[in-house]
Amino acid sequence: MIDLAELRDIRVDPATRRVSVGGGATWGDVARTLAGEGLGISSGDTASVGVGGLTLGGGIGWMVRAWGLAADQLVGAQVVTASGEVVEASATEHPDLFWALRGGGGNVGVVTRFDFVAHALNDVVFATLRVSGDAAATLRALRDLMRDAPPQFTVTYMDVPAMDPNAPAGAGITVCGIDTDVAATRSFLEPVLAVPGVSAEEIAVRSYPDVLMEMPGYDPDQPPPGFVGGNTLLAELDDDVVDALVGFRATRPAAVLFLRSLGGAYGDVAPADTPFPARSATWFAMAGAFDVPGLLDAAGVAAAEREWAAIEAHGLARYANFSVSTDPEWARRMYPEPVWSRLAAIKRTWDPGNLFRRNHNVPPASADGTS
Ligand SMILES: Cc1cc2nc3c(=O)[nH]c(=O)nc-3n(C[C@H](O)[C@H](O)[C@H](O)COP(=O)(O)OP(=O)(O)OC[C@H]3O[C@@H](n4cnc5c(N)ncnc54)[C@H](O)[C@@H]3O)c2cc1C
Repeated sequence: MIDLAELRDIRVDPATRRVSVGGGATWGDVARTLAGEGLGISSGDTASVGVGGLTLGGGIGWMVRAWGLAADQLVGAQVVTASGEVVEASATEHPDLFWALRGGGGNVGVVTRFDFVAHALNDVVFATLRVSGDAAATLRALRDLMRDAPPQFTVTYMDVPAMDPNAPAGAGITVCGIDTDVAATRSFLEPVLAVPGVSAEEIAVRSYPDVLMEMPGYDPDQPPPGFVGGNTLLAELDDDVVDALVGFRATRPAAVLFLRSLGGAYGDVAPADTPFPARSATWFAMAGAFDVPGLLDAAGVAAAEREWAAIEAHGLARYANFSVSTDPEWARRMYPEPVWSRLAAIKRTWDPGNLFRRNHNVPPASADGTS
């Protein structure tokens, strides 16, 4: 374990909008610092999540359609390699290493400094909608809305069981837009608000640090519950997938369903530019049942696995950052060929002994180039 928590300096150059972030900073630290400069960046949705893991795996956040992945904002990094060398990586310095950092996970080194280019941003418009009616009808309306939606809007649909006071149970939609026009946002959402059971809780202008959520509380003395299910990046959220996702959640008392819209700037990045898979995806979806004793028996686990596998068969790839298992078979599903081979070749250059392997591991290619 290498603890980077003390490496949390954040330096901003307002003239170039370049932001240098210590490898152990959290997104809450970054958002608060940037807000003071009238800047924002595409991150995740939670303040206490680390810049390191989220960026290296991709980073699908509130602004993914407006600005792309967190990894897409990266322009440079300082990396401590497996041999202990300290190197700079960017499009011009060790470009292979830099390429691998933008979605390849923690496979190629320890990043002690991330350099991003931020965007001008004062506030955001943020909407929360409650969903108490037909989940499938709501999701179909949301999907239809997002098909031609302007990239400034990213939407998230989440249906969770009661976990703690910070995460109330039930289904809801959150919408984040990188402008401050409340009326335009309300009229944009009209087709979804017209679905019976969907109501606007709040549509308001808020600061970006303020819309980052806090991590749901947990009891450190209790082992975290298992999670049976998975995630996938979907080219299309077609009706069959909607029905299967809604069915997965509806038949289990303690299960989560989470979807976030893609497209926009996310899809504008050429697939070969980063290791992140499935740039043609229009939705990210995750579903899982909590494996809590008394709630899920062996047959229940098997059924959830079977149902999830059928859903995942519709997807293009698995997203590393929401994948709880480090089963080597999972990593293969995150990086299709030729991305896998390119990552393995870069791994061979920078970490031939596979020092960094307690992750979604891409083992180094062998001497003859096979991976
Ligand atoms: C409450 C919550 C909300 C989330 N929301 C989102 C979201 O909105 N969007 C999204 O895309 N993901 C989200 N995630 C998933 C998140 O991206 C992953 O859990 C990610 O691994 C978190 O990174 P970390 O640095 O906090 O975690 P850590 O456990 O510290 O790191 C995870 C792994 O990343 C690698 N790593 C981390 N930092 C470095 C570094 N500096 N150099 C080299 N390797 C490093 C290591 O392999 C490490 O084991 C969320 C997770 C949680 C728990």
